[in-house]
Amino acid sequence: MGIDAPVEHQESPKIVAPRRLSQSATLPRMRSSADVVVIGGGVIGCAIAAELAGSGAEVLLLEAREIAHGASGRNHGLIFYPQNPITDPLYRLSHQMYGELAAGGDLDISLDEAPVGFIILVGSERQWEAAEIEARACETGGIRVERLDQEQLREAEPNVSPDLLGGWYIEDGYRLDPRALTLALALSARDKGAQIQTHVDVKQIVVRDARVAGVVCDEGPVLAGNVVLAAGPWSAKLARPAGIDLPVSGARGWLLLVSPKGMVCDHLLESSGWHLMAGDPGPGEVTVGAYGNGRLPAPDIGLLIQPSANGHVLVGGSRIPSFRQDPEGSEVAQIIARKAVAAVPSLAGAQVREVWSGVRPMSRDGLPILGWAPAVEGLFIATGHGGQGVMLGGGSARLAAELITGTPPFTSPAPFAAEREFSSTS
Ligand SMILES: Cc1cc2nc3c(=O)[nH]c(=O)nc-3n(C[C@H](O)[C@H](O)[C@H](O)COP(=O)(O)OP(=O)(O)OC[C@H]3O[C@@H](n4cnc5c(N)ncnc54)[C@H](O)[C@@H]3O)c2cc1C
Repeated sequence: MGIDAPVEHQESPKIVAPRRLSQSATLPRMRSSADVVVIGGGVIGCAIAAELAGSGAEVLLLEAREIAHGASGRNHGLIFYPQNPITDPLYRLSHQMYGELAAGGDLDISLDEAPVGFIILVGSERQWEAAEIEARACETGGIRVERLDQEQLREAEPNVSPDLLGGWYIEDGYRLDPRALTLALALSARDKGAQIQTHVDVKQIVVRDARVAGVVCDEGPVLAGNVVLAAGPWSAKLARPAGIDLPVSGARGWLLLVSPKGMVCDHLLESSGWHLMAGDPGPGEVTVGAYGNGRLPAPDIGLLIQPSANGHVLVGGSRIPSFRQDPEGSEVAQIIARKAVAAVPSLAGAQVREVWSGVRPMSRDGLPILGWAPAVEGLFIATGHGGQGVMLGGGSARLAAELITGTPPFTSPAPFAAEREFSSTS
C-alpha cells in the first residue's frame, strides 16, 4: 500500500459492556451459619461435603487456598488394594464411587477402566524375599501376582536395566487425575446444595462449654453445630486451640513429571517396599533434642515410575518428615531421578517438566482418623490418610457422613475412632 493511499476505514473493536448480572447470578454471599462447616478442600473434605449435602444437610466448605491445593492435587492418583482388611471396605467403596463419578460427571477424572499392573523390580538376590512378601500380601486381596525372571521382566518391560534380576507382577493399580477428582467431588457437593468457599482461612474452631459453636475466619464468625476438621496435615494446628493434641504429622513426598522421547514402560515400576510405604504409619514424633542435633528420621526413598496415557511419566516414591512451610528435602527429588535412571536408563534423556512436593497427613498407626473428638462435642475429625487419601477418600467420606447423620455405618467405624489417636490438652 502506497504511503498516500487512503487509510481504509477500520471498525473500532467492539467493546462489549458487561451485562448487569441478575440478582440470582451474583456470587452467593458466604453463609454465616450452617449445619456443618467442613474445613479443608482436599479430597477428604470435598468428598465429605458431597456426602453430607446429599443427605440433606446444609454444608459450608471452607478452603484456605484453592480446591486440591494440598496433597490432594499433588499426588500419584493411584488406587490399589491397600493390603489391609481394615481399610479394604473403604477402598472398595471408593473405587466404586469414583467409577460412578467418572461415568456421570462433566469433569474427566481419567480413571483407568482396567488395572495398569505394577512390577516390583528386583535388583539383588536379597530383594527377592521382600518383593515376594509384598506381592503375596496383594494376593490375599484376590489380586493375581506372578514372579518374573530376568527374561520375563525384559519381555514385559524392554527398557529396564539389564542389571535387574527380575520382578513380581501385581495385577492392580488404577490411575486417575487426583486434582480433577477432588474438584469433581467439590462440584458434586455444590450441585447437591453445599456452599464451597475458597480462599477462606479458618483461624479458629470456636468451642463453648465443650461444644462446637462454629469457626472464625477473616470474613467473620460462622455458626455451626458441627465442624468437620479435614485440613490434612494442618489439622493438628487447628485442633490445638480447641484443646486437642491431635498427633497428625506431615510426610512430604516429591514428584517429577518428565517427558521422555519414546515409550518408557507399560506398567507401574516400583522398588520393593513402595506398596507398604503407602500404608505405613508416619515417621513418628521428633523431640527438640533430636531436632537440635539434626537427628531427624531418615527419609524413606523408594521409586515409583508411573507412565501416563499422554506420554508423560511421573516419578516419585519418597517420604520425609515435614514441619516447615517451605519444602524440605529438595535433594530427595534428585535422588529419585538417579534411582529412576538406574532402573530405566533411557529416562536419562527425558526432559524434566515439573518438580513438586506435597505433604501427606500421617496418623500414628497408619489408619485414617474418622470420628468424633471425645472432648469436644460436635467436632468430627477426618484426616490421617497418609499415602492413601485418594484410594480411601470416597469410602471414608461415606463413613464420616453416616456417623455425623446418625445413619448405620456401612463398615465398622471402631478402627478409625478418634479416641485411639489423640489426647486432650485441657
Ligand atoms: C507425593 C505423594 C504421592 C501420593 N500418592 C498417592 C496415591 O497414589 N494414592 C493415594 O491414595 N494417596 C496418595 N497420596 C496421599 C494423598 O495425597 C493424601 O492422603 C490426601 O491428598 C490427603 O487429603 P486431605 O484432604 O486429607 O488433605 P489435603 O489434600 O492436604 O487437604 C487439606 C486442605 O485443607 C486446607 N486447609 C488447611 N488449613 C486450613 C484452614 N485453616 N482453613 C481452611 N482450609 C485449610 C489446605 O489448604 C488443603 O487444601 C500421595 C501423597 C503425596 C504427597
